[in-house]
Amino acid sequence: MNKQIYRGRFAPSPTGDLHLGTLLAAVGSYLQARSQHGEWLMRIEDVDTTRRVKGAADALLRALEGFGFEWDGEVVYQSQRTDLYESALEILSQKDQIYPCTCSRKQLADEGPVYVGHCRQLRLPLAEEHALRLRVEDQLIGFDDQVIGYYQQTLASECGDFVIKRKDGLFAYQLAVVVDDAKQGINEVVRGIDLLDSTPRQIYLQQQLGYAQPDYLHLPLLVDEHGHKLGKSTGAAALDLSQPVFHLHSALELLGQKPPAELARDDLNQLWLWAAEHWNIDLIPTQSLTINQN
Ligand code: GLU
Ligand code: ZN
Repeated sequence: MNKQIYRGRFAPSPTGDLHLGTLLAAVGSYLQARSQHGEWLMRIEDVDTTRRVKGAADALLRALEGFGFEWDGEVVYQSQRTDLYESALEILSQKDQIYPCTCSRKQLADEGPVYVGHCRQLRLPLAEEHALRLRVEDQLIGFDDQVIGYYQQTLASECGDFVIKRKDGLFAYQLAVVVDDAKQGINEVVRGIDLLDSTPRQIYLQQQLGYAQPDYLHLPLLVDEHGHKLGKSTGAAALDLSQPVFHLHSALELLGQKPPAELARDDLNQLWLWAAEHWNIDLIPTQSLTINQN
C-alpha cells in the first residue's frame, strides 16, 4: 500500500449532539493522523437523509472546532456525492453482482440477521422500487486490526448478500463509506468498534470495485452500567462545550493514554501538544469502557 502520506478521516453522522463516544472516535483518528504527520479529513455521513437532524452537522463541526480539531481541506457531505455511488453501482451491475430484493420487512425479520438469498435466483430486472443486494461469494475475509488483532468473517454464512441500495432509493452506508474512503484516498480508517463487523463487507466491496484496502484501527466502545452501548439513541449526555479541556482529558484517559493530571485544566493547546507527542496505540484498551452516566 502507498503509505507515503498518511490519510485518515473522521466521518460522523449528523444525528445529534456531540457526545463522549463521538469525541473518542474523533480524538483517536485525529491523533493517529497527527502523530504520523498525516492528513485528517472530515466527512459528514448524511447519506441516510431520513436520519439527518437539521442543523446537527453544523453544530457538530462548530463543537469540534471548539475542541481545537483542525481538518484538512473542505468538509465532504455524502448527500452531495450520489453520482459517485451511482458509478460504483454501475460497475457492480456490469459485473452482474447485484440483484433486486423484493422480500418484505416481515420476511426478513423472520429470517434473522443473515440473508438466506431468497431473491438471488429470481433474476428480476433491476428496478427503482426494490432494494439492491450485492452477491457475496463463500469466502473468508480477514484483516489485522491494529488494536483488536486478527478478525475474520465468512460473509456467506455470517452476513449473506447485503443491501447496497435501499428500497427507498438511498445508498446504503456500506457502499457510500467504501466509495468515499477510496475516492478520498484514505489509507487508514480509525473508528468505533461497533463497526468492526461491517469491515469484512467493506473489504469485500473494495475488492469488487478494485479499490486499495486501507488499514483499520477500531476503538473501544463506551457502555453504561448494564453493558449497553452509549450513544445518541440511548440518551448519552451531550458534552458541555464550555469544558473542552476537561472532556479531552477524559477522552485521552479512556483511550488508555496517561495525560498528566495538571493538564486537565485550562490550556487546550498544551493538552493537544502532549497528546500528539505521547499518543500510543498499544495503550488503547480492547475491552468496552463502562461509563457511569450519573
Ligand atoms: N458515520 C458512522 C458513525 O457515525 C461512522 C462510519 C465510519 O467511520 O466508517 O457511526
Ligand atoms: Zn429478497
